[in-house]
Amino acid sequence: MTFVEPLRETFAPTVNGADYPTDATFDVINPATGEALAQAPAVTASALDDAFGAAATAYEKWRRDDDLRRDHLRSAAGAVAAAADHLAPVLTAEQGKPLADARNEILAASAWLSYYADLELPREVIRDDEGGYEEVFRRPLGVVAAITPWNFPIALAMWKIAPALRAGNTIVAKPSPFTPLTTLALGRVLREVLPDGVLNVLSGPDPLGAAMVEHPVPRKVSFTGSTATGKKVAISAAADLKRVTLELGGNDPAIVLGDVDVNAIAEQLFWGAFGNNGQICLAVKRVYAHESIHSDLVAALAELATATKVDEGTVEGVQLGPINNKPQFDRVNELVSDALGHGARAVAGGSPLDRPGYFYAPTILDNIDDGVRVVDEEQFGPVLPVVPFRDETDAVSRANRSQYGLTASVWSGDPEHASKLAAEVDSGQVAINSHGAGVQMHLPFGGHKWSGIGVENGPWGLYGFSELQVIAGPPRKR
Ligand code: NAD
Repeated sequence: MTFVEPLRETFAPTVNGADYPTDATFDVINPATGEALAQAPAVTASALDDAFGAAATAYEKWRRDDDLRRDHLRSAAGAVAAAADHLAPVLTAEQGKPLADARNEILAASAWLSYYADLELPREVIRDDEGGYEEVFRRPLGVVAAITPWNFPIALAMWKIAPALRAGNTIVAKPSPFTPLTTLALGRVLREVLPDGVLNVLSGPDPLGAAMVEHPVPRKVSFTGSTATGKKVAISAAADLKRVTLELGGNDPAIVLGDVDVNAIAEQLFWGAFGNNGQICLAVKRVYAHESIHSDLVAALAELATATKVDEGTVEGVQLGPINNKPQFDRVNELVSDALGHGARAVAGGSPLDRPGYFYAPTILDNIDDGVRVVDEEQFGPVLPVVPFRDETDAVSRANRSQYGLTASVWSGDPEHASKLAAEVDSGQVAINSHGAGVQMHLPFGGHKWSGIGVENGPWGLYGFSELQVIAGPPRKR
């Protein structure tokens, strides 16, 4: 995909409902070629003052009219869906994912807006009698700083934008510098249907994210990204007691018991690990397979990996695109080399594809155990180590021997037994006989331990953008 010199006119920041002028730019790389695809605007600190100022002004009206917010969110859902064919190629070009996946991501963002438009912000009357009146309800926090990563730029932005706006907050959003274009384009789409200043979108290199957290205006930082950056965000936000939601990294285990039908589960397990090229925070990152089915499972996964069509996202029938960026490509390469150096065997893949761009062969690693980096760390790429175990209690304790705790899965012919085991796993979600089944708009998604603080999605995600307020007083007139 080649863009016609899109530059700032096409991918401008949105501040107060209009293009925001910038002088500086940075290159956005097409991961399928390794070449610059476009230049994105790099805003400066003064833009932050303007964007947060616009959001603070818009907040005063936006927070007060619940019905208006619902109407606007419904219009926004329609506008995003209508823009899917326009936005999806931009997402594929900068992120690398297949066009069909990009389109689905945009449509999911629209569905999130519709879902939150219909969700109630509860007001609970705790007491209303001759002794007094007590009510508990949820107020918006104010201006929210939303910072997102490069793997699902639009979906993860919408996990913040939809509930934050529904709860009555206004936003300044910043995408990853690896994938700024679609979010900038989304800002342009949404400025047509939202009041000025309600949603502002900026782009710039990483220090812009740090400056957003330090800025005095936002009262909440909603961050999705790596655990290392999340810790910096938490430290910086603490100085001003800003509220934080942190959706961070994972090293998600799949525990496959000896009573599974390997052929029946292999494909679902494979895509639980390799969807979006493994660049999903909750992707299966390590498999613990019972020794009785381990070799069969390795063989079935290897067959699937070898048959997977890897190519540019715009190619017909493509299943996986390139890894999104050079540092991530280098990291995957380094972790696989390290594993091979420690005696692992690549039964599929094991190296980059011999072509330009950041393409990597889907890789299944056998003859590997805990203690090797690709098992112990988050690889965030198309590589899956399959580790044998004998005793399921031991498998659970190995799964739990991680600083992360995002999601997990347990696979068994006996789902009830699997559910009991699932309750022993330290993570925010555990799926039975699938991976990621709980990632839905109506269910809370968040990590335990180093995988995060707080949750997104469902009413719980909405509550995260609000603060409780109690009104207590004398009895109401009857
Ligand atoms: P990252 O932490 O490098 O960057 C995330 C965002 O933070 C980017 O927008 C970046 O510009 C910004 N940033 C960088 N330094 C900052 C700072 N000091 N203060 C504030 N913002 C700063 O992460 P990434 O490489 O873009 O994304 C990959 C990571 O994200 C993986 O670890 C993955 O597991 C995680 N992730 C988590 C979830 C989840 O919901 N738990 C979802 C997707 C990705």
